Amino acid sequence: MHFDGNCLYLVVPCFEEELVLETTNKKLIKKLEMMIKKEIISEKSKILYVDDGSRDNTWNIMKRLGKEYPNRVSAVCLARNEGHQNALMAGMKTAYEFADIVITIDADLQQDIEVLDEFVEKYLAGNDIVFGIRKSRSSDSILKKGTALFFYKLMGWLGTETIPNHADYRLLSKNAMRALFQYKETQLFLRGIIASMGFQTDTVFFDVKERKAGKSKYSLKKMLVLAVNGITSLSIKPLHLVFWMGLLSVFVSTIMIIRNVYIWSLGIAVQGWTSILCSLWFLGGVIMIALGIIGEYVGKTYLETKERPLFFIKEGVNLDE
Ligand code: UDP
Ligand code: MG
Repeated sequence: MHFDGNCLYLVVPCFEEELVLETTNKKLIKKLEMMIKKEIISEKSKILYVDDGSRDNTWNIMKRLGKEYPNRVSAVCLARNEGHQNALMAGMKTAYEFADIVITIDADLQQDIEVLDEFVEKYLAGNDIVFGIRKSRSSDSILKKGTALFFYKLMGWLGTETIPNHADYRLLSKNAMRALFQYKETQLFLRGIIASMGFQTDTVFFDVKERKAGKSKYSLKKMLVLAVNGITSLSIKPLHLVFWMGLLSVFVSTIMIIRNVYIWSLGIAVQGWTSILCSLWFLGGVIMIALGIIGEYVGKTYLETKERPLFFIKEGVNLDE
């Protein structure tokens, strides 16, 4: 009997992943075939690679894999390196036409693929979004562990809806994708947007492995950009903070003024010089911090108003059906 179930697309963003791509492909295809056999997903299910403007052999390998596995592998190549988040969006927008569900996963397979069944089961149980959550961070460097912990603490404190230890290993239904595509912003922080969308959601826990080959494509700079992006696109609490800091500094300087006037009335005004200088510097600092934070948002507003396209697809493989 022919099973006509849900078509799953595995969206895999790749930036210079020539060293892991072959192994990744082998493992994903094996897993996909098993899931098709178990009739959790339809025969039409596929892997969709997104080459995020790699300068190495990644795209050539993808093209070859596309030839080798025409029914299992599709690929698109972005015209330049747009970053992980945009590559994910490119993949999902491409997959949307064909797929009922997508699961996004990193090319290095640090995320355990054995839980893919669980993702789909949770979808079949009626969830539109299933978040993959890592069980531990033992495979991370101390720097990454520390920064991640600090980031999630900060995000929680800022009142945003991020899900701790959830990166971009996640299932979205067609419905959820349609909703996601309504967001017109170009400074993407997907895990934040998606966590705030609503819908029925569930979580799947998974183990994290070491990267088998190649290095992490998330430089400290890319990580910081992502973190700042996450904060400024999800929270306007920093602006409120500026307000409260302003209020506090006015309060402190009022006390200073009263004290200085009192000292002046005693006729020993030279002493006040120190405190005036102090408050001058203090206020200068506060104003600068405030301007910095406001500038962040103004900059963002500026970028958003431009509504630049996120990506241009240069070419594709196996997309003509
Ligand atoms: N990636 C991408 N574009 C980039 C940076 C990364 O598509 O500009 C992809 C990368 O190929 C991988 C995923 O994003 O599939 C996660 O990157 P990586 O594994 O290097 O990050 P880490 O696991 O070290 O946080
Ligand atoms: Mg990785």
